[in-house]
Amino acid sequence: MVKPIVAVVGRPNVGKSTLFNKIAGSRISIVEDTPGVTRDRIYADCEWIGKPFTLIDTGGIEPHSNDIILAQMRRQAQLAIDTADVIVFIVDGREGMTAADLDVANMIRKSMRPIVLVVNKVENKEIENNLYEFYNLGLGDPMPISAEQALGLGDMLDRVVENFPRTAGDGDEDTRLKIAVLGKPNAGKSTLVNRLIGEERVIVSDVPGTTRDAIDTPFQYYGEEYVLTDTAGLRRKSKVYDDIERYSIVRSVAAVDRSDVCLILIDANDGISEQDAKIAGIAHNRGKASVIVVNKWDAYEAKNQGSQKKFESDVRSTLSFMAYAPIIFISAKTGQRLNKVMETILLVSNEYAKRITTGTLNEVIGEAVLMNQPPSDKGRRLKIYYATQGAIKPPTFIIFVNDKRLLHFSYERFLENQIRQAFGFIGTPIHLIIRERK
Ligand code: GDP
Ligand code: GDP
Repeated sequence: MVKPIVAVVGRPNVGKSTLFNKIAGSRISIVEDTPGVTRDRIYADCEWIGKPFTLIDTGGIEPHSNDIILAQMRRQAQLAIDTADVIVFIVDGREGMTAADLDVANMIRKSMRPIVLVVNKVENKEIENNLYEFYNLGLGDPMPISAEQALGLGDMLDRVVENFPRTAGDGDEDTRLKIAVLGKPNAGKSTLVNRLIGEERVIVSDVPGTTRDAIDTPFQYYGEEYVLTDTAGLRRKSKVYDDIERYSIVRSVAAVDRSDVCLILIDANDGISEQDAKIAGIAHNRGKASVIVVNKWDAYEAKNQGSQKKFESDVRSTLSFMAYAPIIFISAKTGQRLNKVMETILLVSNEYAKRITTGTLNEVIGEAVLMNQPPSDKGRRLKIYYATQGAIKPPTFIIFVNDKRLLHFSYERFLENQIRQAFGFIGTPIHLIIRERK
């Protein structure tokens, strides 16, 4: 099921960060456990009354003059419109309504997204009297809160959750494979997307209705229907915020959440960078299948006589957390090896949904244990009783042991490697859940 995205938008100093931190608690990260990737506070996985959602902070850069504030707010608002299911628009109850508030309100109102108008810093009755002027924003009833003192947050989140898109009814599950095309600005995403949906692969229809469908592009390949999950901004190629790393990260999160398979596009001319690692880290941490696509290979070859091995080893070392992902070298522009793209997507999507029978799995685990004795501590040795595959997408294995603390990270890695050696699971992360059974 798709996790809704909630974006917080507002002027500098209205309390966006404070609100974000209050809602997200400590679960804030861009890539939780991915080694070699810098942490950053851009989005967080949250939950309210049993409903999970992704909270994004569209702010980040501190503008100085009023002109810049307005331009920056418009960008934020556009980003929220492009990616979010619900927009939380936050204003300052102590300062009252400003021209910038009104400007942004007009912009987001036109987007037809659900908007929750929140007036922050309302800690007493006196300030509550200021609430009425915010009706002028035309965004419905303003909700008073105090982010700092955690007042009114429950009512606010109730309102946010009420506005989540309704999920399709039972038996109505969308079974089409969903593909996200990720990568830095200029990596060639639009060019590749146009190739994939162009010519012989007909665009089926642009289903209107929910906001989500409107930004997904269905296409056919050998008679099967697939969906490219872009964000609207990606397709429109709004260069407005293309240069800003934060925005490409937020857009990536939005696209990744809705997809099964991620194409991580690398611009061969630029080499592999930390930003590529951040983007790949999103797909990895959110448990999606991935294909690493080195694009613009035509241009690279022309200049460097194509040292593919060297390039590959650079990619492997920067994206070391994603050793399972296949790498392909293509040119979206000339069409070189383009057939590899769908071929590899189909390969990894099968792996992503693969099920291993419990019997076969336990044979492999049993052999692994014979080959490499489990670790022990103070005379107590790890015992692995039993393993079973609990889920697919991504493949998730539950391993029952006598004592969790004895199962070190290195032995866990060993088990994962043995599972991969036996069953492949090309292109997909696999999750191990360790349970104790006394
Ligand atoms: P941002 O720039 O929108 O992210 O705003 P911050 O979260 O950094 O907050 C700006 C300032 O407003 C800080 O000094 C906060 O302590 C203060 N602030 C945030 N929430 C509240 C609140 O609910 N009440 C009051 N009185 N101050 C707040
Ligand atoms: P996006 O920002 O990731 O959507 O990138 P675009 O698809 O707009 O491509 C950025 C630029 O790279 C454009 O000028 C493209 O023509 C160029 N480009 C895209 N793919 C290739 C490729 O395979 N080879 C070469 N030489 N240029 C490419």
